[in-house]
Amino acid sequence: MKDILTLKENSVSLKYFIVLMFIAFSFAVAVRMIWVDQFSAVDSFRWNNEIMINTNDGYYYAEGARDIINGTHQENDLSPVTSPLSKLTAMIASFLPISFETLILYMPTFFGSLLVVPIMLIARIIKLDQVGFVAALLGGIVWSYYNRTMTGYYDTDLLVVVLPTFFVWGVLFSLSHEDSDSFLIAPIFALMAMHWHGGMTHIVNGVFILTILYTLIFERRNLYYYKFLSVLVLALTTLPLVVKALLMVALVASYHLLKAKLSDKIVIAITALSALIYLIFGGAAWVVEILNSSYVTRALHAEEMNLSLHYFGVVNTVREAGHIPFETFANRISGHTITFWLSVIGYALLVFRHKLFILTLPMVILGFFALQGGLRFTVFSVPFMALGVSFLIFLVANFIKTLFAQKVQNYAKYTFIVLSSIAILYPNIKHIIAYKVPVVFTKEEVKVLDQLKKISSREDYVLSWWDYGYPIRYYADVKTLVDGAKHSGSVNFPVSFALMNNQVAAANMARLDVEFTELNFKKPCGPSVECMLKYSKLNNPNELVKALNSKNLQLPQKTRDIFVYLPNKMLNILPTIDLFSNLDLLSGKAKKRPLFFKSTSFNDNGVSINLGNGIEILKQGGKIKIGNQETQMNKFVVTEYDAKGVLHKNVQTINPSSPVSVIFMKNYNQFLVLDKRLYNSLYIQLFVLENYDKELFEPVIMTPLAKVYKLKK
Ligand code: MN
Repeated sequence: MKDILTLKENSVSLKYFIVLMFIAFSFAVAVRMIWVDQFSAVDSFRWNNEIMINTNDGYYYAEGARDIINGTHQENDLSPVTSPLSKLTAMIASFLPISFETLILYMPTFFGSLLVVPIMLIARIIKLDQVGFVAALLGGIVWSYYNRTMTGYYDTDLLVVVLPTFFVWGVLFSLSHEDSDSFLIAPIFALMAMHWHGGMTHIVNGVFILTILYTLIFERRNLYYYKFLSVLVLALTTLPLVVKALLMVALVASYHLLKAKLSDKIVIAITALSALIYLIFGGAAWVVEILNSSYVTRALHAEEMNLSLHYFGVVNTVREAGHIPFETFANRISGHTITFWLSVIGYALLVFRHKLFILTLPMVILGFFALQGGLRFTVFSVPFMALGVSFLIFLVANFIKTLFAQKVQNYAKYTFIVLSSIAILYPNIKHIIAYKVPVVFTKEEVKVLDQLKKISSREDYVLSWWDYGYPIRYYADVKTLVDGAKHSGSVNFPVSFALMNNQVAAANMARLDVEFTELNFKKPCGPSVECMLKYSKLNNPNELVKALNSKNLQLPQKTRDIFVYLPNKMLNILPTIDLFSNLDLLSGKAKKRPLFFKSTSFNDNGVSINLGNGIEILKQGGKIKIGNQETQMNKFVVTEYDAKGVLHKNVQTINPSSPVSVIFMKNYNQFLVLDKRLYNSLYIQLFVLENYDKELFEPVIMTPLAKVYKLKK
């Protein structure tokens, strides 16, 4: 059996290997240029002469890198100046003569494409260079891996698979070469991977524990394995980096110098000592971490509780992870269900033929964990599934070869390989061409933030929904209350409250939240609302809400300016934003959901306007029909910008006692149907109607896509 699974004439010279690696890398980069080509001419996607990035989180790391480069990091601005990605970006920016925008746009293109290197190196260990080449072509661009390392996807993902795959290569390389000098490769990549992303601890520890089992089962008497483990284990401890590095180097040096003189007993003793260090400084910590991140504890935290107050957990609005259809799962890992099954078969044969490859299992298993834990895990199995299918292709090719006459044997073999390679690449390329991800913010939206940067100070706050937090901080260089990482129920509550309540309550809440957020950094007092209660000597949140509605509420001293950023796209998530503050904090019970409906496709037949969803405006008598209920409208408002961009409103009051109003935003071609509370909310009044209270707010940037007001209090 092993004979059939042995591929001869698959290895190439080192020179040729490097050429193949360069071709695979260029291919991965070239494929990542398709998106650039599709959008480079779209002017609204460009800023500073460059296409903008397409991941929201990218603006977080970009902020950190910018602050490192410019030295503009301030205390408590939540800028990730210590994150490895921001540091790496700033480091590259210091010597590459390209703009910062160009750098962050293309970092995923080049770093993500590096995956071809460890894939090919892993295959070279078992002298399967051609198999490695085809695997690299596929692995570098496979569906899920592409999605998370495409051009513009500036995130930690750009090295999150590359580093552990290098680590696995290091382990396999050391264990298959009887040369202790290579012992540092795996620990170095293990340290880099874990430093890059905390989640890598699981892969590294998983591979490590599997290596122990492998040693005990298959290589019990092989001292070389124990030596390797004794070095690797040190990397996994929680000892300071310098201590780890010194210990490892010392150990490798002594293995090198005392090659023959080390007796079995000494090696075993060293290994036992290392294991002991691991158990004390690391092993236990890892188990605790595993338990902490398990579903059991996550379920316990799902309903967020602070003191006695019950907030709305953001988990409730995020789509439930897990339970993805099998086809989606297979597509993400291999590009096609058939490729996926062939990959599984090929991988099984590969592990069967080369036992040591069992050590690649942790990454494969983590990838398959996607079926349970959500799609983001699939990428980890990509390198090994790609090796699997490529191995199978070469096995079959070698079989096909035997069916032909000697003269055309090689011709037949390589024809099959080329055709199969195209077949497995095709669905992935097709996906990539169709995957036209837009940029996060358009040029017109960025213009607003850029203008805001000029009129604000770095210590000012911008109040907006958390979805826009990172881009606001990046482009306007200000502080925010909530962002992509800080958006728990308790921090969302005040922001949601300010956006969804009347202007007096909103202005009071904005000032209180900003000042207490700052105070909290210096003197922790719990979530904002708890702080407000503590300092105002009010007994419960209901009293606070009442107090917030008073124009005479005594506010803390103003330490900085506050801006409110209101984009048009916030209209799409208004009901979700409302969930966070439209509840009784004492019981956690949601209050009655507001009436809100937005229609962009409607049909005017002269007598009535059908807005869809069973909602119809009856022109005669100014009525609105919602389902079976017919009622007069409170107000019917038409808004329209003139040539100078000034908003004009035509407000018809039909029945002031009716709860339902309708707004037609002519230039946006959209209707809004809303109840009284929403109609009077800060967002609708300031963004849609520009009805701002001149004592409380001052318009500073007014564009149809986004409006910014400054708080006067
Ligand atoms: Mn800052």
